[in-house]
Amino acid sequence: MTLSLHDVTLTYPDGDSRLTALDNVSLDVPAGSVTGVVGPSGSGKSSLLAVAATLITPDSGEVTVDGTATSGMDRAARAALRRRDLGIVFQQPNLLPSLTAVEQLEVMARISGRRRPSDRSRAERLLAAVGLADQAHRKPQQLSGGQRQRVAIARALLNDPAVLLVDEPTSALDRDRGAAIVDLLVTLTRQRSTATVLVTHDHEYLSEVDHIVEMIDGRLGTRQPIG
Ligand code: ADP
Ligand code: MG
Repeated sequence: MTLSLHDVTLTYPDGDSRLTALDNVSLDVPAGSVTGVVGPSGSGKSSLLAVAATLITPDSGEVTVDGTATSGMDRAARAALRRRDLGIVFQQPNLLPSLTAVEQLEVMARISGRRRPSDRSRAERLLAAVGLADQAHRKPQQLSGGQRQRVAIARALLNDPAVLLVDEPTSALDRDRGAAIVDLLVTLTRQRSTATVLVTHDHEYLSEVDHIVEMIDGRLGTRQPIG
């Protein structure tokens, strides 16, 4: 299994007590498949992604990425694992306003310490893969919301991650553009064999994903794919 969460519990401080955001959550995501996570706002979806991304350490349980258990890792080891194995797309694309699309990717290549002469052509190929071949030299304000999300997806794929974690990429998009982003994520998952987790509150987009799980009050249940 490329991504596994086993019996993960996460609490946050809440006044004098603690709020349970993830309650004994287990999830297995094989390579080349998309798991959709649905559920109401506040149910724990973003917390689930943050734990899978090793950005938050849970109170208990284990997160395994590409065969490596992460619970014993220190900060530096987790950061290295993220750079090597994880692609993360947040709800907001978080692009740098002064950089063109292709430069957003090049900067990421530089930050991750793997600068290579081929960075530019790799970045251009990835932008083409997300349908932005003609927009590579545009800055964020010259791109639509959907195009910006595509840049963020291309950037997340830069290091060929084993795991792709995507948080509500369609929340700021209209229906057609949202559906196109989900289509793209399914296609990329198949092509690149990533284990993909796609959080969304829009059930209607999920007809093509492989599995759907539903988060309610920090607990995971199974749902039948719609389609
Ligand atoms: P979702 O993404 O499904 O909207 P979240 O994972 O963001 O849900 O939040 C789950 C619960 O945890 C909510 O009750 C939220 O208020 C709480 N929560 C999220 N992040 C924090 C935090 N950093 N500190 C305290 N409580 C938090
Ligand atoms: Mg959220």
